[in-house]
Amino acid sequence: MKLNTLKGVGPKTAERLHSVGVYTVEDVLFHLPFRYQDRTRIVNVADLRPGDQAVVEGTIVSSQIRFGRKRQLEVVLDDGSGLMLLKFFHFSNAQKDNLQADCKLRCYGEVKLFNRKLMMVHPEYNVPKENISVVAETLTPVYPSTEGLQQHSWRALSAQALRVLQAEESIAELLPAALRKKYQLADIKQAISFVHRPPPDAEQALLEQGIHPMQQRLAFEELLAHQISLRQLRAKIQHYRAAACSVEEVKEVEGSQSYRERFLTQLPFSLTQAQQAAEQAVANDLAQTSPMMRLLQGDVGSGKTVVAALAALQVISHGYQVAIMAPTELLAEQHLEQFKTWFEPLGIQVAWLAGKLKVAERREMLEKIASGCAQLIVGTHALFQKSVEFFNLALVVIDEQHRFGVAQRQALRAKGIENDVYPHQFIMTATPIPRTLAMTVYADLDTSIIDELPPGRTPIKTVVVNNQRRREVIARVKTLCEQGGQVYWVCPLIEESELLDCEAAEITAQMLQKNLPGLKIGLVHGRMKAEQKQSIMQAFKHQEIAVLVATTVIEVGINVPNASLMVIENPERMGLAQLHQLRGRVGRGTKESHCVLLYQDPLSENARQRLTVMRESTDGFFIAEQDLKLRGPGEVMGTKQTGMQRLRIANIIRDRKLLPKVQTAAKELLQTHPENAEAIKRRWIGQKEEFSKV
Ligand code: ADP
Ligand code: MG
Repeated sequence: MKLNTLKGVGPKTAERLHSVGVYTVEDVLFHLPFRYQDRTRIVNVADLRPGDQAVVEGTIVSSQIRFGRKRQLEVVLDDGSGLMLLKFFHFSNAQKDNLQADCKLRCYGEVKLFNRKLMMVHPEYNVPKENISVVAETLTPVYPSTEGLQQHSWRALSAQALRVLQAEESIAELLPAALRKKYQLADIKQAISFVHRPPPDAEQALLEQGIHPMQQRLAFEELLAHQISLRQLRAKIQHYRAAACSVEEVKEVEGSQSYRERFLTQLPFSLTQAQQAAEQAVANDLAQTSPMMRLLQGDVGSGKTVVAALAALQVISHGYQVAIMAPTELLAEQHLEQFKTWFEPLGIQVAWLAGKLKVAERREMLEKIASGCAQLIVGTHALFQKSVEFFNLALVVIDEQHRFGVAQRQALRAKGIENDVYPHQFIMTATPIPRTLAMTVYADLDTSIIDELPPGRTPIKTVVVNNQRRREVIARVKTLCEQGGQVYWVCPLIEESELLDCEAAEITAQMLQKNLPGLKIGLVHGRMKAEQKQSIMQAFKHQEIAVLVATTVIEVGINVPNASLMVIENPERMGLAQLHQLRGRVGRGTKESHCVLLYQDPLSENARQRLTVMRESTDGFFIAEQDLKLRGPGEVMGTKQTGMQRLRIANIIRDRKLLPKVQTAAKELLQTHPENAEAIKRRWIGQKEEFSKV
């Protein structure tokens, strides 16, 4: 139903509503309040505490204008139980005249303490009609809004929309009765009405956290819609054909060993159990005639790259091309080096495609890729530019997928499609997502997990140190570097401003240089040009730099085994997942590695707990679970991190307990009521298919 069927919606208002994603009357109903005011009862002044928001009613006992630094109107209200001071800094003459002694007044506002007296600043007020004391019948909703849209407009809109909801079938119940009964879900109309106008006795605390059963009813349906969409996407992809690449392809050339055997023989280590399991799952997928869609999760340093290499070899042995995509040039280059060392001895042609290639080089690479001469192509997102044409791409490996936008992932997926033949996809991520979340967010993917580190690593020891002991930390850096060691020094996150972060990093670098005059200090931050960053990282890698000062931009996956100490400033401001990622830069060699979390007093209780988790654990999955627990329910997991579309009502962290139920419900609904499943998807996701907003 169109918005302009509601009273008070002219072109201007419509435009403002659009800016918050509201286009229809239904959208108004799904635009939920995030707070509530209780105006359902009149509270005795004597019962109020500072911070309360309440309605009080009384008689004005005095009213005067004060001339201080600022002109102000002070009105004192007496309700029989106590006095309440009302303060107005902006007021008209008419207002002043209305607020005279003996006049009855009802007002609503937040109670503050002023000179040990209770006070409301600029309360909303009105003069109650003769003897009829009407209060609100429901809690008063407060809506997330945008400039130019007042709360009273929202309330008027939702009131009208709710009337439409009751009168017409504007929002149909799409969950079958049996399903609602099984999962104890209210009727949708009831849920919507409740959330917009909760009865006076509704549990306001639950509502404000978004976990009231009536809100959960709506969140459930939204999550269900996404689950349905992902399941369908998965089913659809399974209908495509892919190049089936069986395992036992034995090469006749250069002896009779397969690529795989020769590769494994030249590796200086043997695979861990977890790597073997992942390899097997992948090998099996690749042999199918439908495209593989597999996600490999494994902590930093767990050895995911080898698994990708084995997958690549299996496909290349069948004469097909493989592309490997990394999120940054630096990581791509690291892969290039690695794969050249591994593959060129096997006679495999490795090509390279990144943004900064010279025109001629680029043309040459594009030709090699198009002619099929290049068998493995390593690169950044430059890989899915229009000009890139593959000869017969059959496998796409995507590293650190959370760093790519959903659209990019989809675009590369589309890249190899020819006559409905899809490339296999192998996605690697070091962002451990708890299992329940992974099942939902990646419902279109199969997942493998590497949950063991290669042997011989000494676990990183983490210590939590007060910033006041900075000198000792610097002394430790000195000793280590004098023995040939190397150090990362991660600078604090000041605020949202990258510029300030970079300045802080510069200051830290100068401070360290002053304190450590004999050592070479390097600096990388987000505002540097890519080449500049790269050359400094390379210098660090080649041990020309002893201490690398960095903002939090240090690349995921950068490999400098000689670096065995990391100092992180203000760790209390960072998320656990981020700290874990950063810390994974050390502990890559045989030396025992250390991480110093240099915090700033005072620590909140929550920060203390989070730092304790970091000190006590190096297990990415455990840390991710703890991160979930310790985060407030209000905090949203970034869409970037999960690759999931923005949710309107549900919050994947807060509502994670719903996820297992949502999964089974989706299965059931698709089987028993496919039309309803379709309608639910349309209601919440619209025409857009999940992951297909290219
Ligand atoms: P990530 O999972 O973070 O991408 P990498 O694949 O870069 O990890 O592996 C990290 C390091 O561990 C590399 O130097 C790699 O050669 C080494 N490695 C991988 N697998 C094993 C193994 N089974 N035994 C010993 N070292 C291994
Ligand atoms: Mg890696």
